[in-house]
Amino acid sequence: MQPLLFTIVGTRPNFIKVTQFDRVFRKAGFRHELIHTGQHYDLNMAGVFFRQFDLEPDHRLELTHASPTGQMADILLGLESLFLKHKPAMVLVPGDVNSTLAAALAANKCGIPIAHIESGLRSEDKGMPEEHNRILTDHISDLLFITEQSGIDNLAKENIRPDRIHMVGNTMIDTLVGFEGRIDASPIMEDLGLQNGHYLLMTMHRPATVDDKDAMVQLTRLIKSMSQFGRIIFPMHPRTRKRLEGFGLDKEWDSIEFLTLLEPLGYFAFQKLIKHALVVVTDSGGIQEETTFRQVPCLTLRPNTERPSTLNPGSNTLVPFDISAITSFLQQIKQGTYKKGDIPPMWDGQASERIAEVIKRRLDA
Ligand code: UDP
Repeated sequence: MQPLLFTIVGTRPNFIKVTQFDRVFRKAGFRHELIHTGQHYDLNMAGVFFRQFDLEPDHRLELTHASPTGQMADILLGLESLFLKHKPAMVLVPGDVNSTLAAALAANKCGIPIAHIESGLRSEDKGMPEEHNRILTDHISDLLFITEQSGIDNLAKENIRPDRIHMVGNTMIDTLVGFEGRIDASPIMEDLGLQNGHYLLMTMHRPATVDDKDAMVQLTRLIKSMSQFGRIIFPMHPRTRKRLEGFGLDKEWDSIEFLTLLEPLGYFAFQKLIKHALVVVTDSGGIQEETTFRQVPCLTLRPNTERPSTLNPGSNTLVPFDISAITSFLQQIKQGTYKKGDIPPMWDGQASERIAEVIKRRLDA
């Protein structure tokens, strides 16, 4: 009987990291099943990705709580019964969300080896919930799959044994490479009336940015000032929409000229907008990597990043919430003097294959 691998996903960035697993793992001689925890559940944040990537979860958990702790408790119990019933040879957990940590804990308690995909990233910012999820997941994982050199350095500092650490590249880039034709075929540019290199693409969703009224007021000023550089396209995360309405800023945003607010976009449309943007302004983690791969300028409005390879050699810069700092970078970008950057090693569309090889060696041993 071929060994069974379980991959656990729960949120938009998770779905995007595992699209090649089924194909690659089956080819490598494994049975592979996908479990969706239900952390992101609606059409825009989950359904559209399963449809576009032609992914069908083999198991779906039922989340009965809304709080992070309650959801993690639901995930622990739901996974425990699946693990005991199906006895997977290994559990794969991508990323840094609550589903990632809950899945790793459930596997650990059931005595099943854990592989952490996108291991070793550190922002050194303990105010970010994801930072705790990363550290805790890494320390109970058996195989640590690394996307960039900083991951190796960080894990060495935390005294994690080198034989658990494997540099494999970036499975998010596997998805970009795998779906390039579908991305190019998206009609989003015509639908929005956009021309290559003539618009700014923006996303903001981190609690540190959008949960604070003063920060949102400052963001409003920033957006108004950035619009002198071109039309701003802003697909909005549900959390940001909720906060905007809660702070009573939604009417003001609706009236900003040159700002186009959209619902969250599907993968192909969003990637096409990244590919042809003048610049992407964001607080997202994954988007820093996608812009680096595209060699499209990215301004990240955060004090830190867990993905330093996007700063060097990549095309990303950390910028404070400051109009004059951002204006100065936007001027460089418009004039064509901003760095183009280089693509980090192994961001080549083959990371999932490398992961399959390491798992095979490990399970054979
Ligand atoms: N994304 C998308 N549609 C959107 C916004 C983002 O498909 O409207 C994709 C984006 O390209 C990236 C992923 O969602 O692949 C990043 O998710 P997010 O920013 O929510 O999470 P983070 O990476 O910050 O954890």
